[in-house]
Amino acid sequence: FGTLPELIAAHARNQANKLAVVHGDEALSYAQIDARMDAIAAALQRDGLAKGQAVAIVGAMSVDYAAVFLGAIRAGGAPAPIAPSSTGDQMAAMIADSGAGVVFLDADAVATLGDRTVAARRVLLDAEALGAWLADVGAPSPVELLPEDPFNIIYSSGTTGTPKGIVQPHAMRWEHIARGDAAGFADAVTMIATPLYSNTTLVSFIPTLAWGGTVVLLGKFDARGFLEAAERHQATHAMLVPVQYQRIMALPDFDAFDLSSFRLKTCTSAPFSAALKADVVARWPGLLVEYYGMTEGGGTCILNASAHPDKLHTVGQPAPGHDIRLIDEDGREVARGEMGEVVGRSGAMMSGYHGRKRATSEAEWFDAQGNRFIRHGDVGRFDADGFLILMDRKKDLIISGGFNIYPSDLEAELRQHPGVRDCAVVGVPSEQWGETPVGFYVPADATPAGEILAAVNATLGKTQRLADLVAIDDLPRSAIGKVLKRELRDLYVEKTP
Ligand code: ATP
Ligand code: MG
Repeated sequence: FGTLPELIAAHARNQANKLAVVHGDEALSYAQIDARMDAIAAALQRDGLAKGQAVAIVGAMSVDYAAVFLGAIRAGGAPAPIAPSSTGDQMAAMIADSGAGVVFLDADAVATLGDRTVAARRVLLDAEALGAWLADVGAPSPVELLPEDPFNIIYSSGTTGTPKGIVQPHAMRWEHIARGDAAGFADAVTMIATPLYSNTTLVSFIPTLAWGGTVVLLGKFDARGFLEAAERHQATHAMLVPVQYQRIMALPDFDAFDLSSFRLKTCTSAPFSAALKADVVARWPGLLVEYYGMTEGGGTCILNASAHPDKLHTVGQPAPGHDIRLIDEDGREVARGEMGEVVGRSGAMMSGYHGRKRATSEAEWFDAQGNRFIRHGDVGRFDADGFLILMDRKKDLIISGGFNIYPSDLEAELRQHPGVRDCAVVGVPSEQWGETPVGFYVPADATPAGEILAAVNATLGKTQRLADLVAIDDLPRSAIGKVLKRELRDLYVEKTP
């Protein structure tokens, strides 16, 4: 068991001058990041960090941010990165919830937090303030990091509710690192275009550094800027979310970029349409691999899209060593081929939600042998070849007049219509049916909504038909590109009294 700080120290000895982390015109070599990690670890220990205690970080992407994240781990603490897009109240709540004794805040985060009191000592995340905080520190005391010790705390994106602190142990990250073996991270230049507080990012950030590759952190996403940076850095790997693939592939001059350095592109975190996967496979060099999983861990599915052109409507098969089952409302496993809630078990599972025993036990499921699984809250079914067809989040299922309606079925029909560029279907309250499905769509042309609605409803079963279809400029999305169905429901209810 080599921990991430040990692996980085080894790279600092063997390839001292190789770049570890790049952001804009800032960069740290392995020797430099290793020295920064030491200094940050020593300063945190000086300030009283207890083993396993959270170190909160709120700010925009920067090499300092990366160094603080890694230094906290070397100190024996658990970095708790918090979304800078949170409101001041949410920020204060998450800092308090994490139990951090020190919080790093960039200037914008300081402004957002305002005069709210936080118990943690504040350190400004900027070069000068960090320099002062690090002045005269000695060497950190070595800490033994065990598989069950917390590696980091990630606040869930809150796509479906209040963010919960997910404690991920070293054992879980070790799995992510081990899985990266086949990916060739040792000589990778990995482009990262999603924020560092999201697990989606960390599952490629951590293995790249563990294997000794270079991470290129990008700021606010811009499709053309991404391709220019990829060309300039001779990128080999990229981690992007579906909406980013969509924007990149839509660039009229996409084919003019030289992307021949790419070996592996990965995607996770939200539904990725089969048509878009096919387009990426056809026009962008290197393998395309999709992951399905969640911050809490449990079971991960992997789809090598380049190798399985006939399975692009699925999220692939369980990763080696990952046991994925499907259960019904009563917690019993469903028959092969039937729809059920996904539960998963592997070496990559959260310890639990930080300080929330009840929520943790609600997220667990045990098989007849007493093995612990994590409930994913998603509904899907396995096809005859063992590939998982993911339907919807359980919370998004629509129960209308006693029938189960899967929004993803309706979205697939809508997407077929040439007048629809993007869409989402949600259930809204209905006196007659309990709930009824309504669609939101981003128009691709001037076809009237009524015409699209009639055409799509003609293809749907009687119990599935959309009650309404509303044009919208853009679907509301979280910072990592997930459609916020909660907001669409509220929007609809507000506008139709
Ligand atoms: P919260 O739990 O706070 O509501 P979240 O579930 O969006 O937020 P994450 O752990 O980042 O937080 O996301 C996991 C979820 O993302 C999965 O449960 C699933 O719904 C969705 N997801 C992940 N990967 C894929 C994928 N490849 N295809 C479709 N959906 C995916
Ligand atoms: Mg979730």
